[in-house]
Formats: sequence, structure tokens, C-alpha cells
Amino acid sequence: MSSEIAGKRLFVGLLAGSLAVLIVFIAAIWYLSEHRMYTYQRTILGLGGMLALAILLLTALGVGGLVLILWKRKTFPFFHSITNIAINLLFPLTLQVGKLLGIKEDKIKDSFIEVNNQLVIMKKIRVRPGELLVLAPHCLQYNGCPYKITKDIHNCKQCGQCQVADFLKLKEEFAVNVAVVTGGTLARKYVKEFGPKTVIAIACERDLTSGILDSYPLPVYGILNDRPNGPCQDTRVELENVRSAVLRFIDRR
Ligand code: SF4
Repeated sequence: MSSEIAGKRLFVGLLAGSLAVLIVFIAAIWYLSEHRMYTYQRTILGLGGMLALAILLLTALGVGGLVLILWKRKTFPFFHSITNIAINLLFPLTLQVGKLLGIKEDKIKDSFIEVNNQLVIMKKIRVRPGELLVLAPHCLQYNGCPYKITKDIHNCKQCGQCQVADFLKLKEEFAVNVAVVTGGTLARKYVKEFGPKTVIAIACERDLTSGILDSYPLPVYGILNDRPNGPCQDTRVELENVRSAVLRFIDRR
């Protein structure tokens, strides 16, 4: 088994575990409402239980759809929305289940990003260069650089001290949109401004995860940055991964 598959399996396994927790929770509600309650309490719990049951059925269908998509390695458009809703609903519980099992949060998010990327790839997206937005994190910029590149990446003087210069070259080579962002608020601003059909985002596990979850239904392909100097300072990214992601999504005809 490749490590890539093992990575995806971690998130899918925890997602299924979260579903099991939800089932136990609903079973407990049902038991209490049947055996331990006064009539009015039963009514309240019964209503809550029905809502929880509806959520359970939806998430079960979504998790089932996700497993089917990854297993068959093909998309089933019927499951797209349901799978995304299930992931969004179960994600916080998935993190808690992972924590209880002693699994680091970043590892779970890492696995989620792999699952997400696989789903995005399987959609076989091809967009015009102007419909693709590459979002780079501000921490890629050299710590001592005085230029305000988050306002406009063209403010970079391409001195070569950091990789921002390479992103400008990428933008020129492929005519895609590129922006450097400090976080979710600025990322949302650029998404609104450029109106992309697909986004390639480079960030840490935390920012990528929240960005991917918040952006649905906009497809976001995530690439993790390297942090040789610790978090948020003079980070780096494997440029070849960014370049091949751009080539994967743009239609150059
Ligand atoms: S490459 Fe651009 S952003 Fe990086 S240090 Fe030089 S001028 Fe600043």
C-alpha cells in the first residue's frame, strides 16, 4: 500500500468513526426517550432525535459516496454535494475522534487535503488561464522584504531572495492569476475579485483545511508549504508541484 493511499485512508477511516459516534449518540437519545423520560421530555427528545436521524442519513450517504468515489477512482456527480456536506458536518467530530485516538491534528488535516485533492483531480477540470487563481501565503515572502506584495504581487522587485519572484514568473508564463494573501479574509477578497473557476492554494494544514471547507463548491487544490524556519516565517514551497498543478488545470489550446 502506498503512503499516499494510507494518507487518504486515515481521514476516511476517521470520518467513518465519526459517523459511528453519531449513530451511538442517536441510539442513546432513542433509548432515553423510550425508557427514562416523562411524556413532554420524550416529545422534545423525539424531535431532536428526528433531526439527528436526518443528519445521520445525509452524512452516511455522503461518507458512502466518498468511499465509492475513492474506491472506484471515478466521479459520481450525484454524490458531489452530499459528500461535501457530510465532510463539512462531520469534520469537527472527525478531529475530536482523531484526538481521542492520539492522532495529531495536522496529520488528519494532511490526510483530508489529500482526499480533497483527489476529488478535485477526478473532476478533470480544465479552465482558461484567466479562470485559475493561484493563492500563495504571505509567509513565503522574505521576512526582511519591505515591498507590499499582498496589495499587488507586481510590487515584488524579483530580487530572488524568496520564491515570490518565481510566482511572478509563473504568472507571466501561464497568464494565470496569482495573489499573495495573509489569510482567509484577503483570500476571499481575491476570489471575489478574480472570480476563478478553480483555485490552487498554498498554505499550512490549518489554513488550507479551512480554505477548502469554506470555499465549497469552488474547487480548491491544496499544496502544503515547507516551514524550515518554523511556522509563518520564510516558508517555501516545492515549485514543481505548483507548476504541475497549473498545467493540470489550465486549457492551453
Ligand atoms: S523576491 Fe520579491 S518579495 Fe522576495 S524579497 Fe525579493 S523583492 Fe521581496
